[in-house]
Amino acid sequence: MSESVDCVVIGAGVVGLAVARALAMRGREVLVLEAAHAIGTGTSSRNSEVIHAGIYYPQGSLKARLCVQGKQLLYAYCEERGIAHRRCGKLIVATSAQQRGQLLAIAEHARANGVDDLELLTAAQAAALEPALQCVAALLSPGTGIIDSHGLMLSLLGDVENHGGALALQSPVEKAVCTADGIALWAADGTQLLARTVVNAAGLYAPALAGRFEGLAADYVPRAHYAKGNYFTLSGRAPFTRLIYPVPEAAGLGVHLTLDLGGQAKFGPDVEWVDGPGDLCVDPARCVGFYDEVRKYWPGLADDSLAAGYAGIRPKISGPGEPSADFMIQGPRVHGVQGLVNLFGIESPGLTSSLAIGEHTAGLLEP
Ligand SMILES: Cc1cc2nc3c(=O)[nH]c(=O)nc-3n(C[C@H](O)[C@H](O)[C@H](O)COP(=O)(O)OP(=O)(O)OC[C@H]3O[C@@H](n4cnc5c(N)ncnc54)[C@H](O)[C@@H]3O)c2cc1C
Repeated sequence: MSESVDCVVIGAGVVGLAVARALAMRGREVLVLEAAHAIGTGTSSRNSEVIHAGIYYPQGSLKARLCVQGKQLLYAYCEERGIAHRRCGKLIVATSAQQRGQLLAIAEHARANGVDDLELLTAAQAAALEPALQCVAALLSPGTGIIDSHGLMLSLLGDVENHGGALALQSPVEKAVCTADGIALWAADGTQLLARTVVNAAGLYAPALAGRFEGLAADYVPRAHYAKGNYFTLSGRAPFTRLIYPVPEAAGLGVHLTLDLGGQAKFGPDVEWVDGPGDLCVDPARCVGFYDEVRKYWPGLADDSLAAGYAGIRPKISGPGEPSADFMIQGPRVHGVQGLVNLFGIESPGLTSSLAIGEHTAGLLEP
């Protein structure tokens, strides 16, 4: 006889933990199964740690809705729990007349998404805020911030445990069989578990794992694509107090400058399509492109001041040249399997949206 549990969440990244918290706080029995030796070792520790405002995403998309809602929930949660964060603001900078027009379109789009605090600045106004910046105009987003994502994940886990939930590390889920009695899960070591509810929050591995769920039609499993984002760190202190973003490009937000809570500046992530989820090396030669991109808005960037940092891989479900896909959060009403939710394509702004994704997912599992 296998053990039975009410809810299993697969993956203890920021999203899995937020989902587990939302379920545990609704009184459900929750077990989080994590393949690695610690929480948050996947994409959740390989990102920019930015609390996004919700500016760019297509109107009405899950990304737009959950980012705006998630940002509000996250700021309130950080304040309540004393999680380190700073509402430092960001500038989106236009470096050509054509890009200036794009700023106006971005501001209008943001308003439609419910982001109504953007301010259009002239070059002089932007320079008054950030004297080292070179631009023809900028958009100030005062609602953008930075967060200690590990502090957040520890707090989410604390909430799960305080509501009776549990975490099992080094417990990779191998496959599942969806039956009328529940979902039978097999761990890699052969251990079996029967769950009434399963949330697949395995990040980069979620599509491959869902492909091993017997009883889930293959049509509901998207093809995974992997877009690596490389970061380069700046030696010495940056002359900026806000995050600086160029006008966005196709697959990412452009080579931007972000600061961590200690004031360390990093540039990135760029976009490098890779074949699998395991390639996390940063090729130092890519820094050539970084100098060119960054000097468009910060001409003072000194030679030899960038060092290869780290990389994260975007769990994409759209490939190169395709429009960026929305978050794909599929519950029983979509795929017909009782008690199952798959979370696919939870790339940026997944960190910002985590609490809102948790609420949304728990809502899909309500009778
Ligand atoms: C370069 C980059 C920059 C980003 N910047 C930002 C940002 O500034 N702001 C923002 O809001 N978002 C950002 N994001 C997005 C954000 O990081 C992700 O959306 C978020 O971390 C996803 O969390 P997750 O829990 O879904 O996935 P993950 O953190 O990858 O967690 C998945 C977990 O599942 C586990 N797992 C996998 N397979 C199994 C299995 N079979 N059994 C058990 N466990 C398993 C993994 O070990 C892992 O711990 C960025 C992403 C990238 C790549």
